[in-house]
Amino acid sequence: MIFRQLIDPETFTYSYLLGDERTREAVLIDPVLEQIERDCALVGELGLRLHCVLETHVHADHVTASGRLRRRLGARIGAGACAGVRNADWALAHGQCVRVGDLRIEVRATPGHTAGCVTYICSDAGMAFTGDALLVRGCGRTDFQEGDAETLFHSVRDRIFSLPDETLLYPGHDYHGRTVSTVAEEKRFNPRLGLDVCLEEFREIMAHVDLAAPKRIAVAVPANLQSGLAPCPV
Ligand code: FE
Repeated sequence: MIFRQLIDPETFTYSYLLGDERTREAVLIDPVLEQIERDCALVGELGLRLHCVLETHVHADHVTASGRLRRRLGARIGAGACAGVRNADWALAHGQCVRVGDLRIEVRATPGHTAGCVTYICSDAGMAFTGDALLVRGCGRTDFQEGDAETLFHSVRDRIFSLPDETLLYPGHDYHGRTVSTVAEEKRFNPRLGLDVCLEEFREIMAHVDLAAPKRIAVAVPANLQSGLAPCPV
């Protein structure tokens, strides 16, 4: 499998390019608008065809490139069925599989950061892309976009920690330079969702996470509900 982890240094957002060696079909997870030229160049340089773009959720901190990638490269757009992305090609249900050449990507609904969050799992490669449901040693906030701490707790425990311990976990962001973790590592060391933290403690932690609203939320959320195409953000 061809695999690239890409960062948007402005928002510390990770995007992931996965390509099938045999068919050259590829998928880009969570592309960022400002990085569209970089990402299109990479797809071309690697001789890939962008079959689809998958969103882990409706982002509040940056605008997605998915709509423009569909226009430019003909990629389909997939997002969680509960995400409410109005012009997505696929509203992906829990348990559904997306095929990209010989790659199989399973969709798991992992709400709690937002109501429409999903995790994408490539079992053959032992990888999961958790968006903001689970971050390395952390998790996404639960105080807007229909976030809910109890829902997130169960999503992570039941639908991410149930993957094999050695599964590589790729987050939607990292603000400390970390790029990847594993299920075993997060079970043991995640200070919010590790196995020694109970639901009540998690609720308490999340009730006291005191973060400012993302700078671009008023622009990003409405834009991302239309795959970054409207209202025009730039
Ligand atoms: Fe988010």
